[in-house]
Amino acid sequence: MTDAAAQPIPPNRPTHTRMHSTSPETQDIVDLVLDYSRRRILATDTPLDHAASPSELRRLAGTTISEEGLGARRALSVFELVLAPACITTDHPQYLSFIPSAPSKAAIAFDLVVSASALYGGSWLEGAGAVHAENEVLHWLAAEFGLPEGAGGVFVQGGTIGNLSALVAARDSARIRREEHGGSPRPDGGWAVVCSAEAHSSIASAARVMDVDVLPVPADDDGVLRAEGVRAALEAHGERVFAVVATGGSTNFGVVDDISGIASLKDDFDFWLHIDGAYGLAAMLSPLARDRFAGVERADSVIVDPHKWLFAPYDVCALIYRDPETGRRAHTQHAEYLDTLTDAGDWSPSDYSIQLTRRPRGLPLWFSLAASGAGAYREAVSASIALARRIADEITRRPGLRLVREPQLSVVVFERDGWERADYDRWSQRLLEEQRAFVVPSSHAGRPNTRFAIVNPLTTFEQLAEILDTME
Ligand SMILES: *Cc1c(COP(=O)(O)O)cnc(C)c1O
Repeated sequence: MTDAAAQPIPPNRPTHTRMHSTSPETQDIVDLVLDYSRRRILATDTPLDHAASPSELRRLAGTTISEEGLGARRALSVFELVLAPACITTDHPQYLSFIPSAPSKAAIAFDLVVSASALYGGSWLEGAGAVHAENEVLHWLAAEFGLPEGAGGVFVQGGTIGNLSALVAARDSARIRREEHGGSPRPDGGWAVVCSAEAHSSIASAARVMDVDVLPVPADDDGVLRAEGVRAALEAHGERVFAVVATGGSTNFGVVDDISGIASLKDDFDFWLHIDGAYGLAAMLSPLARDRFAGVERADSVIVDPHKWLFAPYDVCALIYRDPETGRRAHTQHAEYLDTLTDAGDWSPSDYSIQLTRRPRGLPLWFSLAASGAGAYREAVSASIALARRIADEITRRPGLRLVREPQLSVVVFERDGWERADYDRWSQRLLEEQRAFVVPSSHAGRPNTRFAIVNPLTTFEQLAEILDTME
């Protein structure tokens, strides 16, 4: 312990700036961290790793927070040797569960630049350059989705916040229309949102936050929500329905709803069409899948998560409104200290979703897209779709294995004859223990199964076939 009274601080070296000033000490810290990052980004043999128990982590990491600090070298080695290995490597080619992540090298590297540059992405006044680049990406995506010229929005943290922000804007629009026609702000029975019974859990979560009802419509046997069911719900619940959510690639199966049929109901009914494309909308970049998404051009809002299939690091969702004014009206925060931003009339990203302070989290995607070009994205997305089809054929060919549904995008769901849930559990645990793959059990209609979710261009047919071999 140093005694402050015994060692007076020289007036020319104030210690309160030690962490912030550029000095030999901070240079060393930056070098250490950048060297580590460089190694990790370029490594080709990062293991899959696996979780550890809280007690194991307490024992191995020890107490890391103290008055004096461990020093950067020791803190980094705790991360490298204890903490990082207790986190699954989500960009590993044999990570095939949930929806993996597969950030491009350019996007990962530029994420460091975003942090290094202390960018504030909430307002035009503070972040014009960053916001300009993010907007170019959003406009490019909007054009890919067939949305009109004026469409725009904001990059938010994830699909859950994207869906919630879009639905809040949808309800706000419906409320304003009612009031313009002399109605009460809320219909009898309260607001409701229509979606597929197979829609993502974040829709139900948004509805709970908003205190609105979800009216789930059963999908057909192939998992597709079709117009007839939606029409029936609209006829039965009428003005209560402020939005219909169609899924552009369900998480469990990668199934795309009949967006075109659902969108054409707009000719007869007044509702906001939201497309939840968190995982799947990226497939519109590929000629192999684009046709499945007809009708997206009529959406009032869409989301897609670049951290899923657009090769950006966590965590980022593109939220795009057909008419951004609807989003701005619903979400702009008003406060005395913010008036200077709001009154300027500039495009401020914070005005378009549930958030205020924001990192310009769209920039890693911007950099990677600008550097590599849209063609590289189309090629990489197409490769996963083609691989999904090829491994689906292989599953069909192998005795004892059965596809649960034909894959539409890049999720392949299949069963092993005679396996109960416990068999899948044991098999999955062994794959991870042996560090061969991360493939977890799933289920459909009460039956256990498993799935390959393929978004990583480094995943190969041979790797997947080897995993199938372990089921024999
Ligand atoms: C992943 C996903 C979400 C949720 O997105 P987060 O980024 O995890 O919040 C919503 N909808 C669908 C279809 C998804 O696949």
